[in-house]
Amino acid sequence: MENNKTHCCEDVEFTKKVIKDKNLSFNENETGQDEENGDNLILEAESECGCGCGAVKYPDQSRLDNPPQPKYRANSDFIQEFENYARSIGIKSMGYAHLTPELLIVDKFIQYPHAMVLTMEMSKEIIETAPGEEAQRLNDLAYEKLTKITYKLSDYLRKNGFATEVLPPLSGIVNFSALAEKAGLGCRGKNGLLITPELGSRVKISTIFVSIANLPLKKVNEHNWIPDYCQRCAKCIKNCPEKALLEKEGCCGDKEIDLIADKFIGCSEGCTFCIEECPFVKKGYGEIKNKFDKINAKLKGDKMDSMMKDMCMMMMENMDESVLRQMCQKMMETMNNSKKMQMMPKNERMKEICKMMEKTGVKPNKND
Ligand code: SF4
Ligand code: SF4
Repeated sequence: MENNKTHCCEDVEFTKKVIKDKNLSFNENETGQDEENGDNLILEAESECGCGCGAVKYPDQSRLDNPPQPKYRANSDFIQEFENYARSIGIKSMGYAHLTPELLIVDKFIQYPHAMVLTMEMSKEIIETAPGEEAQRLNDLAYEKLTKITYKLSDYLRKNGFATEVLPPLSGIVNFSALAEKAGLGCRGKNGLLITPELGSRVKISTIFVSIANLPLKKVNEHNWIPDYCQRCAKCIKNCPEKALLEKEGCCGDKEIDLIADKFIGCSEGCTFCIEECPFVKKGYGEIKNKFDKINAKLKGDKMDSMMKDMCMMMMENMDESVLRQMCQKMMETMNNSKKMQMMPKNERMKEICKMMEKTGVKPNKND
């Protein structure tokens, strides 16, 4: 799977296009009043030349300056307090990671590579609204909300003596999904988006770089089974109206995805089809993990061909018939290529295949 590319809204060229299309138009009325201070928070992109074609730079919405002599260590109580505060103002999950160069989308110096990665729920309303003006408006509001929350959290850190640098959700500087994956918040799916245990990929992501050098990093990512599941799903690819996700054969036999950035209409039109159709959003992480574990347990110990395993996963997800037929065909070819199977008479071979299918809980059709 291609994992270094960015999805809608994380590609800097794409972000520039969005800002240009919007005519720099996040406005005051949509943003509303800040509850605590009564000031208007205006999320407005600045462009060097004013037409949106130059570098996109968001205005700093911080209320506090960075401390002149920032602290570099935080104790666990402070981290806990910070997390509690973050949750109380709308953050769904947060994790910590060190920034490494391959996660940068643009060449930019980040003074403190210690990242606090934040996710916020993307409302069901956005998912349920068809791409177009209204979906885009709702999507913009979500970006705006997370931007505001992220600056609030940055101010909280500054107030407590830590230096920060904020990357709002539309900043286009870092591959947020990859950074969030590194922070253990989930794992990227075939469409390049982060899949979280809480909400699947129905999340927006932002980041605060902070002077805290002893952030509690996770050693293992418990969600790293997700790409294995994705290899057998591909619903996001089938449901992308723009054909922005292109599947191709990788060098090691795995499937790889090309993300065609200029076809993305996620930010510009609020498209969310690939999110809506993802089983992690439709059925929930827990259900998918259960099924995945069950199938794996059933197949464990069996010397079953991986093609067979793929087919069972397909059946489990009720893939469309043509895909299923293709898989059956491939499975049959594999079986036919196996020496043991070749030695069997045809009816024996079929019985063998049926037995294998039954072991997985799949009932073969009597006509097969
Ligand atoms: S379905 Fe929509 S959001 Fe998903 S990749 Fe395609 S254009 Fe982007
Ligand atoms: S739709 Fe399927 S392939 Fe795409 S991200 Fe979700 S689980 Fe993975």
